[in-house]
Amino acid sequence: MATRSVAIDTLLTRLAPVLGERLRTDAEALAKVGGDESGLPAGTAAAAAWPVSRDEVVALAREAFLLGVPLVPRGAGTGKAGACIPGAGEVVVDFSRMNRIRELRPDDLFAVVEPGVVNQTLDQAASEHGFMYPPDPGSFESCTLGGNVATNAGGMRAVKYGVTRRYVWGVELVLASGEILRLGRRSIKGVGGLDLTSLVVGSEGTLGFITEATLHIIPAPPAVETAWLTFADVLAASRAADRIFARGHVPRMMEVMDAPALAAIRPLAEVAFPERAGACLLIETDGPEGRALDDLLAIAELATDAGALESAIARKEKDREAMRRARRLVSSSLKERFARKIADDVAVPRSRMGELFARAAELALGRGIPWCAYGHLGDGNLHLNLLCTTEEERRRAEPVRRELLALTVALGGSISGEHGIGLAKRDVLTLELPRPLLALQEQVKAVLDPKGLMNPGKVFPPTKAA
Ligand SMILES: Cc1cc2nc3c(=O)[nH]c(=O)nc-3n(C[C@H](O)[C@H](O)[C@H](O)COP(=O)(O)OP(=O)(O)OC[C@H]3O[C@@H](n4cnc5c(N)ncnc54)[C@H](O)[C@@H]3O)c2cc1C
Repeated sequence: MATRSVAIDTLLTRLAPVLGERLRTDAEALAKVGGDESGLPAGTAAAAAWPVSRDEVVALAREAFLLGVPLVPRGAGTGKAGACIPGAGEVVVDFSRMNRIRELRPDDLFAVVEPGVVNQTLDQAASEHGFMYPPDPGSFESCTLGGNVATNAGGMRAVKYGVTRRYVWGVELVLASGEILRLGRRSIKGVGGLDLTSLVVGSEGTLGFITEATLHIIPAPPAVETAWLTFADVLAASRAADRIFARGHVPRMMEVMDAPALAAIRPLAEVAFPERAGACLLIETDGPEGRALDDLLAIAELATDAGALESAIARKEKDREAMRRARRLVSSSLKERFARKIADDVAVPRSRMGELFARAAELALGRGIPWCAYGHLGDGNLHLNLLCTTEEERRRAEPVRRELLALTVALGGSISGEHGIGLAKRDVLTLELPRPLLALQEQVKAVLDPKGLMNPGKVFPPTKAA
C-alpha cells in the first residue's frame, strides 16, 4: 500500500464530506490524471479531486493551504508542455465536471462558462445564434476552455482572429488560500486599474484556479472557403505567404506542411496531396457570400505568381473539413514514425518565417538530424520537429534543439507560440527571459501564491538551469 504524508491524510479526511467519491486515491484514478500529450513521463499524484462547483474548489484550496499541500489544476490533459503533470505529494484538481455554459449572450457579445466546458461545445452553442468562438486549437474536440485560458491557446484561425487572450474579458480566480478574485468585466470597454485578467491568461495554473471565464464571442461569417496549394519547398511557400500578406490579404487560416509532414499523413489523409509536393499551404478565407471565394481566388493567383505548382479548392463543407483534418493528423502521424521526436512550437514575426526555415534547415541538416516543419505559417508559429526514433538520436539532437530555440529568440520571437512552458521548457526559458525578469515574475506569483502551492515546478526554471 502506498504511504501518504500526514498532511495528505488529514486533507483527505477533511474533504471527504465535501467531495465524497469525487476525491480519489486509487491507482486507476491517479493514472487518469497523471499525464498529458507532451510525451513526458506521467506523474503520480497523492490524490485527485473532481469538483463540481466554485465552492468546492474554495473548500479544497482552504484546507490544502492550511496543510501546505500543493495543487495542480487540470483541464482535459491535452497540453503539450507537461504543465498539468503532478509530482508526488500533490493533489490534482480536475475541472472536467465543471462544464456548464452559464450564460450565452450574443447581444452583449459574451458567454460565461465554467472551466471544464470543451472548446467545441462553446463554438457550437454560439453557432446556434449565428456566432462563433474563434480560438480553435487542434484539440478543440476535447480541450477545455479553462485549459485554453491557462495556456493562452492558439489555433488555425489565429492568423485572422488572434489567440485566446483576445477573447478573455474576465475570469473568476480562486487563489491557493481559497480567496476568490473576480477579475475583468462584461463590457466591451473597461479600464479599471491594472489588467489582472491578462496576467492569468497563459499563467499555466501557477497563480490560481480559473473557476469561471467571461469569453467574447463574435458573429460568424456567412461563408468559408478552403484550398490547398503545393510548392517546390517551404521557402517557396513562405515567399508566397509574404506576397499574399503584402497585398493586404488576411486569410483566416494559413497552415504549412513540409515534405516529411506530407509523407507522414498521406497514408491516413482523405486528401490526395501530390507525391511530388515539397510543401503545401492550406488556406481558408471567410466573409460575406461571394467575397470569401473572391478572396481565395485572388490569394491563389498571387500564390501561383509566386511559384505555387498545383491547387485545389474544396466545394463542400465535408471537403473543407477533410483538408483541416489532414493538417490535424500531422502531429500524431509523426509520433507514430518517430517515437522519440523532439517537438517544439516556436513563434517569430511573420515576415521572418523564410529566414527561420532556411536557418533551421541549415542547423538541423548540417548536424545530420532529420527534421520536419509544419504549422501556422500565417501567424509565424511553427512546429519544428527533430525526428528521432531512439533515445541516442534524441540525446544527439538536444543541443540542436537548444540552438533552434535560441535562433527563434534572435529572430525576435518566442520559444513557445502556443503550447506553453510547463515542465517541457522551463529549463530553457532563460533563453527568452532574462533572470531579472523571471525574478520579477516569481515575485508577482508570490503575491498571489505566497506558499508556492499552485502547480509547483512548472514554468519557472530551477535556479541553476540555462
Ligand atoms: C492533437 C492536439 C492538437 C493541439 N493543437 C493545439 C493548437 O492548435 N493550439 C494550441 O494552443 N494548443 C494545441 N494543443 C495543446 C493543448 O490542447 C492546449 O494547450 C489546450 O489549451 C490545453 O487544454 P486542456 O484542457 O487539455 O488543459 P490541460 O492540458 O489539462 O492543462 C494545461 C494547463 O492549463 C492549466 N489549467 C487547466 N485548467 C485550469 C483551470 N481551470 N485553472 C487554472 N489552470 C488550469 C493546467 O494546470 C496546465 O498548466 C494541441 C494538443 C493536441 C493533443
